[in-house]
Amino acid sequence: MFFYPLYREIKKESIKEENSRFNIIETNNFYLYYRDDSKENVHIILNNAEDALLRLKKEFNFENNEKITIIIYPEYEEMANKIGLGNGTIAMGVYFGGVISILDPTKWINTESEDGEDIDLEEVYNRDGPMVHELTHYMVDHLTAGNVPIWFTEGLALYEEYIINNTEWASSKVYPEYYTIEEMKKSFNSLDEVKAYRQSFLIVKYIGENYKKEALLNILKELRKGNTISYAIKKTTRIKIEDVYKYSLN
Ligand SMILES: [Zn+2]
Repeated sequence: MFFYPLYREIKKESIKEENSRFNIIETNNFYLYYRDDSKENVHIILNNAEDALLRLKKEFNFENNEKITIIIYPEYEEMANKIGLGNGTIAMGVYFGGVISILDPTKWINTESEDGEDIDLEEVYNRDGPMVHELTHYMVDHLTAGNVPIWFTEGLALYEEYIINNTEWASSKVYPEYYTIEEMKKSFNSLDEVKAYRQSFLIVKYIGENYKKEALLNILKELRKGNTISYAIKKTTRIKIEDVYKYSLN
């Protein structure tokens, strides 16, 4: 586990270097890389990032001792190529290797509605944008030194979107059956995305609502020590992960 942070730094430098053709804005908290194409919306993204960071620092008792790198890509293909995303679902944001990559908001927000009324890009971005989600991944990665199962960091990211943005992943979906602990642990990325993410969200929400935020923070602390998620959950909630699955998904 001690090698992980080092790897993260190296990866970050190489991504930064590849992106030397970008313009850069430096603030107290962020390095924001953008191309001329995205110039118009840079302030929207930056304001949103500062707000999200403030809220999440309180949520996670997180102190950032480094500036966080955000790269705005004008095209999805370029982002996908650089980060190594598959051709599955189009992501508007990705956290990878210590860096937050996001897609230019105009690529996924249609500013003209069907009835011809203008849509406020900033309003939609603040509510549906990827910043709370990706910044959560950033913090969870740092708080656990990288020792976190994908399903748990995804659940946390969706839970923070729920708390901060008031949006809920797949809220109308009801599944008669969910994935097993083994499936979630071993093959998360090949499961049905909507269902697997919904399940992650429900489990984290259950812990957050029944054992409070402190429990989630304590789980992250246990993970940081190198413990497994099963151990961390049992130690923190005093119930077994099997039972957390059972109670949260019924
Ligand atoms: Zn995510």
